[in-house]
Amino acid sequence: MKRQLAALLLTIFALSLTACGETAAESETRTVYAMDTVMNLTVYGENAAAALESAEKELHTLDEAVLSRTAEGSELYALNASNGETVECGADDILPALIETALAISEATDGAFDPTLAPVLDAWGFTKDLRRVPSADELAALLAHTGRDKVALEETADGYSVALSDGAQLDLGGIAKGYAADLLRAQLEKEGVTSATLDLGGDVFVMGKKSDGSDWRIAVKDPGDTESYLGIVSASDAFIVTSGVYERYFEENGVRYHHILDPKTGSPAESGLVSVTVMCKNGAWADALSTACFVLGADGALALRDDLAAQGTNFELIFVTDDGRVLYTGGLAAAFTPNEESGYTYESLA
Ligand code: ADP
Ligand code: MG
Repeated sequence: MKRQLAALLLTIFALSLTACGETAAESETRTVYAMDTVMNLTVYGENAAAALESAEKELHTLDEAVLSRTAEGSELYALNASNGETVECGADDILPALIETALAISEATDGAFDPTLAPVLDAWGFTKDLRRVPSADELAALLAHTGRDKVALEETADGYSVALSDGAQLDLGGIAKGYAADLLRAQLEKEGVTSATLDLGGDVFVMGKKSDGSDWRIAVKDPGDTESYLGIVSASDAFIVTSGVYERYFEENGVRYHHILDPKTGSPAESGLVSVTVMCKNGAWADALSTACFVLGADGALALRDDLAAQGTNFELIFVTDDGRVLYTGGLAAAFTPNEESGYTYESLA
């Protein structure tokens, strides 16, 4: 039921993404179900149909053959089942490249993004459709098997080798969709596409501009009422990714437990936020940073933004706090238009 509702909402938002002032440019839209997510892809121009066909194929291959934790044939499944043995990968393989990015972001966020939370997520039942609250002892025992130091990724003569030590297992759910969006973008560019919108379920990429030359307008969902929106971001060639606690959660004894874990505690992050939206030029980073910034909370995320800016990685943020405020960073001052009817108070940060 929840999934059907989510699908419906995504469709509405995908429509609002493309419908504003769009002229009758040639376009094709396709809905794809992959990575446990309803995705809406729209491509403009003559090659639209062929480009969508290959984009859909790429998404299914990525999901089933590479990134799925549950499909027995996937490369990630094999790695997680390797029992500490070293796994050899080719130079052009996607999995080691994605692991390398995930480890870099884990380091950049001081572990707030942690790709090794698989056993902890399993204990909460988020990966199966089984929800339970693990005990503190159980979580402490599981956390001993997590951390990026347990992932050894090395370059070899033929590519890469990966080894997981101390019973570590990877869950790439916080970065996979963003990485997939990066790959789709590269594929579309190769096919000569210059204008497209890809909505991979909350991970949005807008390529180029609308056919009338204006920026795309992306509605950012209201985490308190997902049928409404917080505001509109105007952007071109950007990834806009939201991590929130309104989609995957369960309630027990009146407490709400959601699926973004604080790697320090192994429990759902309590950072005073209900959603974080990241805008940047790279899909994998946008996706993983949205998860990390949710864990870090507004102050920690703003400090991270300054740190990364000093190293040449820029991104913008929209926070929704649990006391009803929407905060957005300076680079969005002109690009973000609040929805004044939403009931939130809005604050533009420096
Ligand atoms: P969604 O996938 O719902 O759009 P996110 O991008 O925020 O949301 O990713 C959340 C997913 O990331 C979880 O379902 C889980 O697979 C994984 N995850 C949860 N907490 C963390 C964390 N601290 N670091 C890395 N991955 C996480
Ligand atoms: Mg994410």
